[in-house]
Amino acid sequence: MKVFYSDHFVLPLPEGHRFPMAKYSMLRERVAADDICGPGELRTPRAVTDEEILRAHAPGYLERVVSGALTDKEIRRIGFPWSKRMVERSRRASGGTLGACLAALEEGLAANLAGGTHHAFSDRGEGYCVFNDSAIAARAVQAAGLAARVVVIDTDVHQGNGTAEILRGDATVFTYSIHGAKNFPFHKEESDLDAPLPDGADDSEFLNTLERGLDAALEAADADLAIYLAGADPFEGDRLGRLSITKAGLAERDRLVLEACRDRGIPVAVTMAGGYARNVEDTVDVHFQSITRAASLLETSVATDGRKHQS
Ligand SMILES: [Zn+2]
Repeated sequence: MKVFYSDHFVLPLPEGHRFPMAKYSMLRERVAADDICGPGELRTPRAVTDEEILRAHAPGYLERVVSGALTDKEIRRIGFPWSKRMVERSRRASGGTLGACLAALEEGLAANLAGGTHHAFSDRGEGYCVFNDSAIAARAVQAAGLAARVVVIDTDVHQGNGTAEILRGDATVFTYSIHGAKNFPFHKEESDLDAPLPDGADDSEFLNTLERGLDAALEAADADLAIYLAGADPFEGDRLGRLSITKAGLAERDRLVLEACRDRGIPVAVTMAGGYARNVEDTVDVHFQSITRAASLLETSVATDGRKHQS
């Protein structure tokens, strides 16, 4: 399976910063040590261009991000100190999702070992999100004529508020978000379909709600491509999660989402989104099981229909 990773994903942060930047390189090591990627399939994404970003973001916002003219308040909201590297990281993270979308459209499944920056709004960033990779990638594949309709399946524990805001009124991209009702962001935007969960929700409540929501979302979306935000933060050991989902429950989540899309013939680009477990290894475990599930599903479908011709 094609997997997108860039060393640019790892941003140097001040001592004591609470964002677990180490998860990206740890995840890459796990993927590289496994046989998920064939030769040349672990890829470095390109940076998305201004033109691609402007399909999702306001020109003034892009200009302030690129030139370092964000206000202190805007920077605090984003949560990362501004630097040229931060801008490049944000472009590459979106490039990884776009790369995964293009690969998925050809092969059925692909993944970005970053992305899921769903708190980025058209004119501002927040919650460690600068550019909205899902909106940028969806509109890039549409502009290229490769997909007419896209569905965003957001299972990160935080609502996909930026994605909902950017894509509001866009009938060609359906947004679905299952999240903690009482969690950040405290003001929720309206997705095409929202599934808020109470604090402490367990595997069965989460999975039952997800299964119903997926059916409704996929039915309504009638999509040619899915972007799946496989956030690791619904995990019971997450510092910010407020839910009680086990690793096995999250593996079942991956299966439900990926098989629901496969059964409807919808290619899926998997992105990582958040993960703030007390033990960073747990976050990496959860992300890794999403990648391995996607890769094994791709292997099965390739074995069945013989789509893959090269080694
Ligand atoms: Zn999150």
